[in-house]
Amino acid sequence: MPNKDQTEATTELSFKCANCGHMYPTDNLREKPCPVCGRTNSVEEGCLINVSNEDY
Ligand SMILES: [Zn+2]
Repeated sequence: MPNKDQTEATTELSFKCANCGHMYPTDNLREKPCPVCGRTNSVEEGCLINVSNEDY
């Protein structure tokens, strides 16, 4: 019953910009430009980080 957001995983992947360090959601894309500096970070570059939705 408490699992109302079952499609939302507790751990999400985000890009961490290799240029400015800004973290932003991937939107399930394999590469995406940084909204801050415009650098395109990609999965292939290893710019992915795990972001937990749960507090710890
Ligand atoms: Zn950036």
